Amino acid sequence: MTELAGHCHCGAIRVELTTALAVEDLPLRACQCGFCRRHGALTTSDPEGWLHIEAAPGAANRYRFGLGITDFLLCAECGVYVAATMETEGRLTAVLNVPGVNLPGFEGRAPSPMIYDDETPDERVARRAGRWMPAVFVETSPSA
Ligand SMILES: [Zn+2]
Repeated sequence: MTELAGHCHCGAIRVELTTALAVEDLPLRACQCGFCRRHGALTTSDPEGWLHIEAAPGAANRYRFGLGITDFLLCAECGVYVAATMETEGRLTAVLNVPGVNLPGFEGRAPSPMIYDDETPDERVARRAGRWMPAVFVETSPSA
């Protein structure tokens, strides 16, 4: 198993991605929506893997736009865009913003540009079901 750890600029939100893939076999996508372009976001996910997101109390701000089905997690402290999460059928799934958490192993990779503007809500959920990864979000207690 590969375990990749990262965190936002200030460290209030920490992530760990667990995957059976080698890091060079993980995708690196450049979503072309207005939000992702503004952040220079490059996302990765492994639907067979697992993402653990741990935030200090109150550190995770959630931003929604467009279809309103996605929570974009932003650090309340340093402003970094960390991950996007979506709940489907009671299951949390996510993609991780690689530069946002400075995830190791992606240096020098050319991302694949992605344009999703014309998707219907159903198409969006179906696409993510095959690509986004299972995730858990926990808020730590201050002493943890
Ligand atoms: Zn932060």
